[in-house]
Amino acid sequence: MSQASIRPARISKVIPDSIAAEVGFESGDAIVSINGTRPRDLIDYQFLCADEVLALEVLDATGKIHRIEIEKDYDDDLGLEFETALFDGLIQCNNRCPFCFIDQQPPGKRESLYLKDDDYRLSFLYGSYLTLTNLTEREWQRIEQMRLSPLYVSVHATEPEVRIRLLKNPRAGQIMEQFKWFQQRRLQIHAQVVVCPGINDGGHLERTLLDLASFHQGDIPAVASAAVVPVGLTRFRPKENELMPVSREKAIEVISQVQALQKKFRHQFGSSFAWLADEWFLIAQQELPPESHYENYPQIGNGVGSIRQFIKQFQATAKKMLPARLETRRRFTWVVGNAVEYAFKPLVQQLNSVEGLEVYLAALRSNYWGQEITVTGLLTGQDLLEGLQGKDLGDAILLPSLMLKHGDTRFLDDMTVGELARQLNIPILPVSGVEGLIEACIRGE
Ligand code: SF4
Repeated sequence: MSQASIRPARISKVIPDSIAAEVGFESGDAIVSINGTRPRDLIDYQFLCADEVLALEVLDATGKIHRIEIEKDYDDDLGLEFETALFDGLIQCNNRCPFCFIDQQPPGKRESLYLKDDDYRLSFLYGSYLTLTNLTEREWQRIEQMRLSPLYVSVHATEPEVRIRLLKNPRAGQIMEQFKWFQQRRLQIHAQVVVCPGINDGGHLERTLLDLASFHQGDIPAVASAAVVPVGLTRFRPKENELMPVSREKAIEVISQVQALQKKFRHQFGSSFAWLADEWFLIAQQELPPESHYENYPQIGNGVGSIRQFIKQFQATAKKMLPARLETRRRFTWVVGNAVEYAFKPLVQQLNSVEGLEVYLAALRSNYWGQEITVTGLLTGQDLLEGLQGKDLGDAILLPSLMLKHGDTRFLDDMTVGELARQLNIPILPVSGVEGLIEACIRGE
């Protein structure tokens, strides 16, 4: 990456009362360099800012360059947020996985929905998964020197031929050597295995989890945890696609296979180490493991234990926040994916025990993606319109904001919340997390 391809880091927000606000930064300004170095990304920015004296070159919105010097404690944050974490552009993916969600979307949507990132910086900063197939020597060195750990790696299979078949990339066969690389440097990864029936299940899955566990040794295990996730297919997947959906029988098989390994790992390491995503239990129509099973939720971002965690947080927050009665009567429709219908029923009962509050749970499937069982985050505006039209929806809809792209008001099918509200003729309240949900129930806004 040459210095020339690095764009100035454009500021999207200046935190009030911060050092940056005091100095007079404004959103729209852009940082060109810090102490003579142009930051490539947020990682460089954070590293360069860990100095007590900063000489900043800043470009304002009119194109004028300013030179600013700031003295601060080394751990003081300037209080800036940026439009993007990557000032030199996204490192794109060089694989062709048949289960890639990006290729399973309908054509003609906004461009950003088709971007295939496989960028170790996003993995380090936000926990997104990468494959390690596209790293140059220089990037490996940077991971080592800046100790960018843990990273989140899509492993899928450890046998070279199986992983190469899944990622459709000959570079995918080096994964075991790469684990050794992390181990030698005392760096860590969290692994995920997307199970595709007929390709990496059965004996391949067992082999993969045992190989991963062989790196779960010592005080800083190279492989900190592994998540086992069922492949997600949509009706838009390419016709030549060789994949089979996960059936109930397959889910039952994988659950018992992984649970047997978990038992072994608990004995060996004192930790289950390999985690089953909640979806397995939903497909198998089995009870989710108890809250105590999930240790410190190491794979929560992969949907491992997220239902149990939500229920636990709900119970704790409800105890603190839910009043016995509401001053003003309110009726809401809380929209979720049908995957959580059964698990969330007790939560709805608890909400409805508040006098004057009435919540109806609308647990929908996605016709848009063509899925029988749908997780909440995949419901689209079209799904909501079809599922809710003509129903008595009360005063407003409670919409989990995970259906919307971060910082956006659009669903995955590009419909906006405003459009949906107009078509259903009802206010929509995007709610984020348990507190947001309960707050909206109490305040009605
Ligand atoms: S690595 Fe990820 S983005 Fe790339 S093809 Fe595979 S699933 Fe898609």
